[in-house]
Amino acid sequence: MLKRVFFSVGLSAICLYSYAQDNTSFILKDITLIDGSGANARSHVSLVITNDTIAAILPADANYPVEGTVEIDAKGKTVMPLLVNGHGHLGLLNGKSVVAANYTPDNVARQLMQYLEYGVGTVLSLGTDQPSAFIFQNASRMGMLGGASFYTAGYGFGVKGGTPPVAFGPSILRPGSPDEAMQDMRRLAVLKPDFVKIWVDGEPRIHPDVYRAIIAEAHVHNIKVAAHVYYLEDAKRLVDAGVDVLAHSIRDKEADDSLITAMKQKNVYYIPTLCIEEFAFIYATQPEWFNDPFFIRSLEPGVWDMLKSDEVRQQNEKEKERKMKSLKIASRNLHKMDSAGVKIVMGTDSGAQPVRAQGFSEHVELQLMQEAGIPPLKVISYATHNGAAMLGIDGETGSLVPGKKADFMVLDANPLENIKATRSIHAIYKNGKQIQ
Ligand SMILES: [Zn+2]
Repeated sequence: MLKRVFFSVGLSAICLYSYAQDNTSFILKDITLIDGSGANARSHVSLVITNDTIAAILPADANYPVEGTVEIDAKGKTVMPLLVNGHGHLGLLNGKSVVAANYTPDNVARQLMQYLEYGVGTVLSLGTDQPSAFIFQNASRMGMLGGASFYTAGYGFGVKGGTPPVAFGPSILRPGSPDEAMQDMRRLAVLKPDFVKIWVDGEPRIHPDVYRAIIAEAHVHNIKVAAHVYYLEDAKRLVDAGVDVLAHSIRDKEADDSLITAMKQKNVYYIPTLCIEEFAFIYATQPEWFNDPFFIRSLEPGVWDMLKSDEVRQQNEKEKERKMKSLKIASRNLHKMDSAGVKIVMGTDSGAQPVRAQGFSEHVELQLMQEAGIPPLKVISYATHNGAAMLGIDGETGSLVPGKKADFMVLDANPLENIKATRSIHAIYKNGKQIQ
């Protein structure tokens, strides 16, 4: 039976529809809410969840007169949306190895669960997936697969004898001509990937005519294209060719105004993945998080010992100067893009190397974005709402407003005071259900 409940809060009347019998409702009382939209946090509010949806946001002292609603006192907690990782890799990593053979249902499911336990509610796997990805994609949409929601670019486009490495498996498409690229893209489109991935880096470089053909054909099928990029010149050519997302930072030079103007005009998203630079040098010495269980838990078996080894320490020492420099350029470019109003999405490239732990990397990325000069409120919005918008799912998730999915985490501390508070996870809710 449809029950209609009216009550008034201050001057505004709120109308709620609910099914009296099969409802599960609960109310998180007296929280600080960061809703992910970029709006200021609200303190002393309560969040009402009915089934899998946010039903209402009320002042903490308001009564919620729906019978059977469970009240949870959450005074002092901060609630924010689950993170969206716009650039991850599923099923590739297992222990210390990164090979296509790791792509098993168990490994993919385990990693989706790990992401969610760290507060990442949605992941876009960018181009390293195997055929079963399309089954997982479907299962995820149907609610048959636990963990983070799984989005996939399926089989990415690389180049013969170049990037990505052969270890990523035979599924990588490596067209040798624009015509072949178009044919490959048509075949891929039949499988309905959520995105298309192109690697534009290394030697030999994929020919611009080849990626132009891929982008044009992807757009015929209404699929967005993300590119792995490093150099400013490649970024310019890609934006000119109509790419939708730059899935890494530009790390060789400062981004110039002509690129930034073009990115704004064409609504190109920018995913900085700052943490991949940091993870290439930070283990020259032990970083402050090294003995933190939150970090250790995120690592695959054997990786923590590997990171303590002389070999890794020396390798990181050797890379330090170069990688610190590229991180600096990347951070400056992020700040510049952000100041100009380019759309930013959080992404980490986690799962592509043992050192890029799934779940932990995302929290490091938030910190690095803040250190690049982006205020925490914006960082959170880029890591939630903007990611959902890039995936075209912002109508249902990515921000905490009535009518959207109850996908959020409850934190012991407020990340607006210190961004590292995103790690103080007290509870995780996805589709209105607590998972941890
Ligand atoms: Zn990647």
